[in-house]
Amino acid sequence: MPLSSHHSTFFHAFFLHPRREHPRAPRAIVLSSRGTNELALINWRVSALAYGESMAFEQPLPKALSPSRLADFQTCPRRYQHASVERIPQPASYATAKGRFVHYIFEQLIKLEGPERTVDAARDFVEPALRHILTAEVREEIGLDDASEARLLAETQIIIERYFTMEDPREVKSEGIEMRVGVTIGDTPLFGILDRLDRDVEGNLVIVDYKTGSLPNRNYDSQTFANAELYAVLCEEKLGERPAKIRLLYVSQGETLERAVSEVIVKARAAAAIAAWEKIKRYYADGDFPATPSRNACRFCSFQDLCRVQGVPVPPR
Ligand code: SF4
Repeated sequence: MPLSSHHSTFFHAFFLHPRREHPRAPRAIVLSSRGTNELALINWRVSALAYGESMAFEQPLPKALSPSRLADFQTCPRRYQHASVERIPQPASYATAKGRFVHYIFEQLIKLEGPERTVDAARDFVEPALRHILTAEVREEIGLDDASEARLLAETQIIIERYFTMEDPREVKSEGIEMRVGVTIGDTPLFGILDRLDRDVEGNLVIVDYKTGSLPNRNYDSQTFANAELYAVLCEEKLGERPAKIRLLYVSQGETLERAVSEVIVKARAAAAIAAWEKIKRYYADGDFPATPSRNACRFCSFQDLCRVQGVPVPPR
């Protein structure tokens, strides 16, 4: 369950900052009676206290930078600290569970032989998705009741129908599904899992990413494609071949956004990842990743309560 406002009522914060010997010297102990996130906060506080003056991070630096974690870092370095360095669990939400549910169905569909990828076959994967994705733990975490499960199933049926108007999966020539790619560029380790890497009729590689959220505001196009463009960097480095296109399938709306991949963009994304990794190493050594709160950055962030306790001026909900 997210650290939502009602959880705040369970918090009792005792501020303990007589000195600021270290940027991450402990500033508060948070006591709480329930929930994974609260426990993570307590653990974080306890380890912070144990480290005292020489405290840096208890946890090692992540082994690699993924496109989504790079996006976290670029949005707010403190979010990266909490999610990737301190590894504070981020609770599932209805939206994230739905995303995993739908991804599972399409993953299984494309794993079938081409002619078998029919709409009925896709529907047949709904039941296995219920078992594999909506585990008892996930159901509890997102508070899934009968009404919200019925809503999820209804939305999934619409998504499946819309998807079949977007492409004919029987024609898809896939080089990889849920493809794990790790490379090192210079000193920067990068890692990502691609939903799909296709070979189109012209013989070009195409990165395909399923999106279950809303269509983006077109003013933010460059951000929309940023993750997938870093996947293009990974592919070029790993396979020695630059994907020609990125195709984002907004399956809830039945709309496709497509963009060509250029050498300029691949170089720019690689340079941005390298620069971010250098900063990550520096902040990690300093023991402090700066917070850059803003309405957009904080709106969907799981760490709002933790940041507020730490004195970060998070905009009101
Ligand atoms: S709540 Fe805002 S300031 Fe805090 S980690 Fe999240 S994005 Fe950063």
